[in-house]
Amino acid sequence: MENWWIFLVIGAIIVVALTLLTLSVRARKTRDEVRARTAPQTTTHPPQPPSTPTPPATEGTITEPEVSGESKPALEPKVATAPEPEVETPAPAAGRLVRLRARLARSGSPLGSTLLRILSRDQLSEDDWEEIEESLLVADVGTAPAMELVDRLREEVRVQGVSDLGAVRQLLREELIRLVDPTLDRSLALEPDASAAEGAPATILMVGVNGTGKTTTVGKLARVLVAEGKKPLLGAADTFRAAAAEQLTTWGRRVGVETVRSDREGADPASVAFDAVDRGAAQGADVVLVDTAGRLQNKADLMAELSKIQRAASRKGPVNEVLLVLDATTGQNGLVQARVFAEAVDITGVVLTKLDGTAKGGIVIAVQREMGVPVKLVGLGEGPDDLAPFEVEPFVDGILGED
Ligand code: GDP
Repeated sequence: MENWWIFLVIGAIIVVALTLLTLSVRARKTRDEVRARTAPQTTTHPPQPPSTPTPPATEGTITEPEVSGESKPALEPKVATAPEPEVETPAPAAGRLVRLRARLARSGSPLGSTLLRILSRDQLSEDDWEEIEESLLVADVGTAPAMELVDRLREEVRVQGVSDLGAVRQLLREELIRLVDPTLDRSLALEPDASAAEGAPATILMVGVNGTGKTTTVGKLARVLVAEGKKPLLGAADTFRAAAAEQLTTWGRRVGVETVRSDREGADPASVAFDAVDRGAAQGADVVLVDTAGRLQNKADLMAELSKIQRAASRKGPVNEVLLVLDATTGQNGLVQARVFAEAVDITGVVLTKLDGTAKGGIVIAVQREMGVPVKLVGLGEGPDDLAPFEVEPFVDGILGED
């Protein structure tokens, strides 16, 4: 038993080894528990398809996140349910301009109040008539219509000798209504052409310079159509501006309208238009609204791109409307842009946006003269239902201001 200490040493080594083993197992367990508590919820996105321009991805593919094999807590299971996006009910489109006409008065009253102030003077001198013409030109009525209006007013005043404010206002109102032209057909063509394929939707192209309000107008128009009981579908063919497709998708989603888009910036806009019409027909949509990009750097490119989009959108039948969006605050510049677009595509109507922010309401008259097509819609604010079908009398009452 002289070697008793050898057994003692071996025993001690075994005790130390067992202690170390126990400590390491505990440490690993604690680490795993901490990791499990602090780990984020993981959602798995589907792999992106290879970035080919066609076909564009269709909005609305929602992928459920993968659930890991974690055991559920015994009490109160926490089920993360994404809130259903609330589908809004847009305001009815009829009579919107009457409701929003105060916005025109706010921006247009300088024209109405200036004209009425001058016209109600006792004896109108040459200087007064020049002042009237000047006010019309400042309001962007355009030279020819302004001269016409002054001539007619002069004639009326000479013959009738109107002097009290009520009569002057009435006279001016009638002459402005005549200039804006109540005889033009301002309705949107929402029925597919007789030559269109069976089940083809009507198609509307929205064109115009970037920043004029095209995407916003497509979104607002979708709401107008939904309010009228139509089933629209949106095509995000402004593939130049990264945010445009997202912006349009959001507009559509708010009223339960589907958007066809390509997630690849710079994708071929014509292929998006093509797919939107295809999808519209397959989904039984009534109208396909196609947003486009409007880069003016190179007129030839713009013309080529727009006519390619128009051809692509015509695959099931002729495009029903090509609406030119003009920003009313840009005044005469807007008319220069209008000419460029008119050379590229056959414009069927004009949408004048931002009329709430300008005293240049006279542009309605000038643009109709210039383009030979009616103003069909006007934008009177950034709110979702601030797009109104154009109506002549409420418009004129708006720019003349309150009685
Ligand atoms: P796009 O580049 O032509 O598609 O232009 P957007 O649709 O992105 O619009 C440009 C800006 O104009 C946005 O801030 C819109 O909210 C604004 N906008 C569009 N229409 C109107 C309008 O009628 N009134 C006002 N005040 N702003 C508008």
